[in-house]
Amino acid sequence: MNQVRTCFQSGQIGPQEIRYPEAAWEYDYGALHPRVACSNLKCTLCGEAVEAVHLHESHGFAGTPEGLWTQVMAGDLSSLTPSMAARVYLCRCFFKTAHYTEGMTPSDVDPERYEPIPWRCQGHPVLSLPMTLDGV
Ligand SMILES: [Zn+2]
Ligand SMILES: [Zn+2]
Repeated sequence: MNQVRTCFQSGQIGPQEIRYPEAAWEYDYGALHPRVACSNLKCTLCGEAVEAVHLHESHGFAGTPEGLWTQVMAGDLSSLTPSMAARVYLCRCFFKTAHYTEGMTPSDVDPERYEPIPWRCQGHPVLSLPMTLDGV
């Protein structure tokens, strides 16, 4: 059971329309539409697990990433703005509101405008059988 699979393009982040799976083994293998959000992202810079705050955006937040992260980790979402569609992702050193779906290591970027994201999929356990699946 040490086998893991990593998401297409090192993981996808996105707004509410891309599903954020509950099960650890669900991952994005690259041929899905809409994509599946990665539920196991980790920051390569600060080493923290990336948190996803659903139905919120960070529009207008002027503080530091660490300040926001500390608040959110304490359950305080008062610096975020409720949103019908967006999802905020954050670690200790970086935050981003996802308004559209994007991979962590996309292949087709404009290097002039591309802002790299320091998060990478840490892998998902391979679903092993036999096990009980819902409704089966
Ligand atoms: Zn992943
Ligand atoms: Zn970080």
